[in-house]
Parts: sequence; structure tokens; C-alpha cells
Amino acid sequence: MTTEIRKRNIIKRRMPIDPLRLQGFVKRLFARLGCKLSIVAVEISTEDKILAGAQGVNFLIPFGKIKISRKLLDLLSNTEIEWVLAHEVAHIYLNHLVGTVSFAVARALAEDEARKDTNFKMLLRVWDCFKLLTFVGGTLPPSAALIKDQELDADALAVFLTRNKASARSALLKLTGNKPGVASHTWEVLSMPLPVMTIRERLSALHIRSPQQIKKG
Ligand SMILES: [Zn+2]
Repeated sequence: MTTEIRKRNIIKRRMPIDPLRLQGFVKRLFARLGCKLSIVAVEISTEDKILAGAQGVNFLIPFGKIKISRKLLDLLSNTEIEWVLAHEVAHIYLNHLVGTVSFAVARALAEDEARKDTNFKMLLRVWDCFKLLTFVGGTLPPSAALIKDQELDADALAVFLTRNKASARSALLKLTGNKPGVASHTWEVLSMPLPVMTIRERLSALHIRSPQQIKKG
């Protein structure tokens, strides 16, 4: 690569990304999924983190917010950004928030009960030890298994929407600094963060998971 081309690329990479353009892209993705109307805002965060996330539900119409950090936008190419946005669109379209919040609320209620009742607290800790043991044996607990399923579904639907498996691969690798063995999402038991899966598992699933297998929540 000549110095001149390299300079041009740097300038191109630093061009500001218009949030309205990203929002228009998200709207078109929902339309492709049959949602003629959608109210999903795209927010570019200035946090010093490489992150993207969705908070939204799909009751009658998709509604919510997709957050993507400036740092992530700077890291990814245009087609990789499109795949990440499609992944977040999939989370909202498939109503994934409902499932994860249900588990979080159930756990919070159980912890609250445990603070008042020592017998219940002991029972909860036994349940946690059981979860840890089954994890060591190779089985994820229900809450972590749900996260894994949701992520793989969102990946598959995003590939279907963007028709671009190569960008899915490269985006996932860039997110981890090209280390496919690192954890993608974690769950916690007895104050220990444990991996839900590795990025390598997500990359492998891109080749075997089809949109037909996806269940809408
Ligand atoms: Zn996700």
C-alpha cells in the first residue's frame, strides 16, 4: 500500500458517521422483516468501550433503542457495522429482552427472599453449587443457555438480513482483537464470572444455524 493510499484510507475512516443514516438502515431492516412501522432509535455513545447493545421489545411494532459506541464504529468497516446493527435489530425483533429480564427478575426475587429467610438462602446456594457443577460437567445453566441461544439466533438472522457471512466473521474477530478463544458473554455464579461461549463457537455456528430454526419470543 502506498503512503498516499494509506493516507486516503485514514481520512476515509475518520469521516463522521451520521446517526440518521444508521437509523434509516435499521428501519429498512425491520421493513425487510415485515415490520412496516418501527420506532427504534440509534444512539452513538462516546463511552470508552467497544460495545453495541439493544434495549427494545416487539409488541405490535418494534420499539426501543440500539446503542453503538463511536469506538466500535471507528474499528469496523461499513459492512461490518451493518452486520452489528442487524444483530441488534434481531434481538429486538425476536423479543430477546423479555426472556433475559424474566431470569433477572426471578433471580432478584430469590435473592430478596434469601435475605429474609436463612433456609431459603441455603437452598439458593445449593442451587448455585449445582449450577457450577453442571457447568464443569459441560452443561450451561438455563439462564446462560438462553443467552447463548439468543446470541446465535441474532447472529444467524443478521447474516440472513445482510447476506454477508464474511462481514459477520470479521466483525466478531475484530471485537475480540482477533482472539477467537475469548469469551463471548459471561454469566455469574458464586461471584465468579464464567463464559457463556467463546467467539470461536459463534463463528462455527454461523455455518450451521439457519434462520428457519429461529423462534420468535
Ligand atoms: Zn447480541
